[in-house]
Amino acid sequence: MTEPHVLPASLATLRNYVDGAFVATGRTFDNLSPLTGRLLAKVHEADPALVDRAVQAARRALEGPWGRTSVDQRAAMLHRVADVIERRFDEFVAAEVADTGRPVQQARTLDVARAIANLRTFADLGRAAHGEHFETRTAAGDELMNYTLRKPLGVVASISPWNLPILSMTWKAAPALICGNTLVVKPSEETPSSATLLAEAFDEAGIPPGVFNLVHGFGAGSAGEAMTRHPGVDAITFTGESRTGTAVMKAAAEDLKEVSLELGGKNAAIVFADCDFDAAVEGVVRSSFANAGQVCLCSERVYVERPIFERFVAAMKARTEALKIGWPGEPGVDMGSLISRKHREKVLAYCRLALAEGATLVTGGAVPQFGDARDDGAFMQPTIWTGLPDSARCVREEVFGPVCHIAPFDTEDEVLRRANDTDYGLAGVVWTRDLARAHRVARRFDTGIVWVNTWYLRDLRTPFGGTGRSGLGREGGRWSLDFYSTTSNICVKL
Ligand code: NDP
Repeated sequence: MTEPHVLPASLATLRNYVDGAFVATGRTFDNLSPLTGRLLAKVHEADPALVDRAVQAARRALEGPWGRTSVDQRAAMLHRVADVIERRFDEFVAAEVADTGRPVQQARTLDVARAIANLRTFADLGRAAHGEHFETRTAAGDELMNYTLRKPLGVVASISPWNLPILSMTWKAAPALICGNTLVVKPSEETPSSATLLAEAFDEAGIPPGVFNLVHGFGAGSAGEAMTRHPGVDAITFTGESRTGTAVMKAAAEDLKEVSLELGGKNAAIVFADCDFDAAVEGVVRSSFANAGQVCLCSERVYVERPIFERFVAAMKARTEALKIGWPGEPGVDMGSLISRKHREKVLAYCRLALAEGATLVTGGAVPQFGDARDDGAFMQPTIWTGLPDSARCVREEVFGPVCHIAPFDTEDEVLRRANDTDYGLAGVVWTRDLARAHRVARRFDTGIVWVNTWYLRDLRTPFGGTGRSGLGREGGRWSLDFYSTTSNICVKL
């Protein structure tokens, strides 16, 4: 047995980072380990007055030297932050693992690696971005030159969720900063540690005071809501639940703030009988249970063509039961804990509901027993259901845990109709060896992203986002640069 990951002693007390200084407040909340339920850290909660100080500092920084930096200088800054993360890689991994309970290997290869990639990619994309120019001759014979300038939006509030903490935060911070904005960021109160390390990395890299501000706290009635309502904030980038997205948008409407919303999903994977069977089983196990199912892109609905349905369900059951649940550092571990016992309670409630709605439980649905400290953590078995109607709540509502429902289908038209019959529209997956069908299905999937014969491979230059209740707008590549900047057209008569 490998010991649970604990935070470095330096992260036992977590402070806010405002105007270039680490700030304690009178009030703290507890950061509890999802692996053991024990106290990891005391976190200093930002009140509305500190949020206000952060916004004011961000506003002053826009008008100070940061507002006159070149894109090359800002890119160099982001690369320096990435250098610090590389040097302190193990601390970031430990923070991410301690807060979330995920396998160490995942934190190393996905979370922290992607944080570095986000910073470096957007630094380079920002430097390569350019405006447009048009040369015009009017009917009256005037010669004009029009060109377009990109300018920062101003003070950006960035609010991120607990499921991929450092990945989400850098995904927003890097493009916002390369475009010349200043930032006030808030991580989820469940995952304050890697965000605090990120503030240290910015500080170490020499970011001017007020450019990057971190506030800790909760959402409604706390720091999150104070950020969205603050009149000094020009734009909000938010990732989280669809319901929260609605609240954020309502708050933003008051001052007509720009908003980008990356919200929930109830994603479908479609498996055709002509697929590479083993690759599809492996892929669907991954897309359903990666990060204990706590990825907005996970497949909670799986549709399998009838001739291979029984065999596919049996193979999914065998492969899922072979997944190793355990301490994050254990060799070969596939799944750690969920984010908290409170969240596990929500997932278990859906498990009870699925049975009440008539599901057949193929595997899982319960809490594993270890006989050690993990029994006080938030572990849960990966769970597969079959037999639910498409109208069941467990087939329609995002559970955001290690669960999936597998249903048979007969025709391409039928499965597309069923896959698209959802309030969400984030990601779809198609498994088939028929190339023409793959393209046909991909273009008819009503989602922002479609993967063919794979899942979650990403090129950061591509657009990312969803339709319907999965969000508004796109981030990624030039789409991020477009969101985090505004344009001015300059028209010159020659
Ligand atoms: P929440 O919506 O509960 O919270 C997200 C963030 O918003 C947290 O920092 C939260 O603070 C804060 N918040 C909550 N209420 C408000 C409010 N009224 N005003 C301002 N801020 C608020 O989402 P979760 O953290 O539970 O994350 C899981 C959700 O995120 C899932 O629905 C998932 O699908 C979605 N997601 C979407 C992604 C995408 O790219 N489309 C990617 C990743 C996740 P606190 O938690 O401290 O209360």
